Amino acid sequence: MSENTELMKYVATTCPYCGVGCTLNLVVNNGRLVGVEPNQRSPINEGKLCPKGVTCWEHVHSPDRLTAPLIKKNGKFEEATWDEALDLVAKNFKTIYDKNGPKGLGFQTSCRTVNEDCYIFQKFARVAFKTNNVDNCARICHGPSVAGLSLSFGSGAATNGFEDALNADLILVWGSNAVEAHPLAGRRIAQAKKKGIPIIAVDPRYTMTARLADTYVRFNPSTHIALANSMMYWIIKEGLEDKKFIQERVNGFDELKKTVENYADAESIHGVPLDVVKDMAFRYAKAKNAVIIYCLGITELTTGTDNVRSMGNLALLTGNVGREGVGVNPLRGQNNVQGACDMGAYPNVYSGYQKCEVAENRAKMEKAWGITDLPDWYGATLVEQIKQCGEEIKGMYILGLNPVVTYPDSNLVKKQLERLDFLVIQDIFFTESCEYADVILPGACFAEKDGTFTSGERRINRVRKAVNPPGQAHEDIWIITELAKKMGLKGFDLPTAKDVWDDMRAVTPSMFGATYEKLERPESVCWPCPTEDHPGTPILHREKFATADGKGNLFGIEYRPPAEVADAEYPFTLMTGRLIFHYHSRTQTGRAVDLHREVPESYAQINVEDANRLGIKNGEYIKLKSRRGETTTLARVTDEVGPGVVYMTMHFADGVNNLTNTALDPMSKMPELKHCAIAIEKAGGN
Ligand code: SF4
Repeated sequence: MSENTELMKYVATTCPYCGVGCTLNLVVNNGRLVGVEPNQRSPINEGKLCPKGVTCWEHVHSPDRLTAPLIKKNGKFEEATWDEALDLVAKNFKTIYDKNGPKGLGFQTSCRTVNEDCYIFQKFARVAFKTNNVDNCARICHGPSVAGLSLSFGSGAATNGFEDALNADLILVWGSNAVEAHPLAGRRIAQAKKKGIPIIAVDPRYTMTARLADTYVRFNPSTHIALANSMMYWIIKEGLEDKKFIQERVNGFDELKKTVENYADAESIHGVPLDVVKDMAFRYAKAKNAVIIYCLGITELTTGTDNVRSMGNLALLTGNVGREGVGVNPLRGQNNVQGACDMGAYPNVYSGYQKCEVAENRAKMEKAWGITDLPDWYGATLVEQIKQCGEEIKGMYILGLNPVVTYPDSNLVKKQLERLDFLVIQDIFFTESCEYADVILPGACFAEKDGTFTSGERRINRVRKAVNPPGQAHEDIWIITELAKKMGLKGFDLPTAKDVWDDMRAVTPSMFGATYEKLERPESVCWPCPTEDHPGTPILHREKFATADGKGNLFGIEYRPPAEVADAEYPFTLMTGRLIFHYHSRTQTGRAVDLHREVPESYAQINVEDANRLGIKNGEYIKLKSRRGETTTLARVTDEVGPGVVYMTMHFADGVNNLTNTALDPMSKMPELKHCAIAIEKAGGN
């Protein structure tokens, strides 16, 4: 054995990218990562990884990593010591708080970082500044899932696991391109197909997942409610609803029945011929066990919460909740979308979705955290905080987010961040957003810290430290607890991830039993896990729903059009989405050689008929314009999108979010990232 191989070790951890939560071993040689291998014993990925997972270690030792705290002086960043940087943050946050009160600061954390960072971050915001202005980027992907599934079932999380799709008799994939966006969940759909389970894909775009399906149903963008209502009209008309299930376990049937009567034939809205609607409805209702899998096609709209509730309606109407092979399952885009919300990095709940407005919950947290006067108000959400910059909000702390690229209306985001008196960004790379910061704190990436990610199936997967952070960079828990100590706060003597997790468990009944010892097992634990001898809960709502009366709720929901629809000036509908080769704003995947080579720049899909009419050729540059801005991108001429529809990837700076709309879903405050009106011209302007 050579000297180097003696120093080699494998460190079992979890992929830092999508919410499937594949587990893998990082290969470490001489203190540096040299590769990755999938975990063969994982019940999630069974020894497989997607292109992102295989390359997930490549950015870790990038020379571009932030290695020292930076303070902006006279418009330029200068390296500083940790004491200088943290003293400045503590002083300026305190000054803003003293002058403007708890609503003068905004706190935003990433759902890409570990649960323990999210928990300690929201605890810091609430303890230090008595504020509920704390949110995470699940807001702009699955906020409507949290809100909608809570209203329908009492719990804002997936009802069943990924593998459970193999127990279904029919899979309805709606607004999800799982094969590309969540490849190892997509693998379960491919396995189901091999097993002979029929798959219906409902999507405005003929995606990789739609190609895999037996039946592809194209519908007009953002008309989900009308289509679901049409399906439910015909299910009820034919008497195919599950009467026993409804009688015993469901509220609201009469309201739903009355509402869907107006949708017998809504082809003029959703564009799906009546015979196709009936076929889809009858197959879903007649299947012994049918599961719905959905994603951002459902949620990233101003009707997001109602779209999710429509999926809940379908499942409750047909009795497809609470056992193997059924349910309603959102696929989470980022690794810890589920966990960041579970940890209470949310403006109206503490960890485990304990509502801040409930006096007993506040009293419990005040006792545990040794403080008084926790607020009962609903804090400002991610996009609301951006809109309030320079007005109510004067200072902001952003952990692991790149709002300039990933939030809607990039031009507005830049303008608003400039209006802040003081902005702190904690990250691993100097992102496009860092330009707007006053202080930059260098954090640690997934390979440099311990902790947990909670996947889309509520499975709490361990993250383990394999290498040290570069230079003076530090684990994020260390940064936040040091800052808290500098402010004289008690309750932050929590040096390890396990200490933080135990601090969380002590105040969170639904996760109290999920000890680190239990999480060591390859299969780990799915919450709820209320006691230390509890095995966890892979399937929710078996006996009763998590609502106050234990029943599921049907809702009569009317179709509403998007906030901005195509018109004479902006005649195309723009949809956005993910690529298999990139993740979020590419700060990590853009530094993986093979991933960057596959897709080095942004592109927009445009229908063949539209391209011919506008004289646009495949591979040439086009300019897309909306009421908010413009971007230049490559044209991909295709029939994957229908006439009048353009699809663009979300990953590139100065890209699609120069165009997108900040209009919000009134219930979840989700911005309408998936639908706005645009105009197209050749990049030369002719
Ligand atoms: Fe990572 Fe998701 Fe790919 Fe699995 S499917 S390897 S979790 S990006």
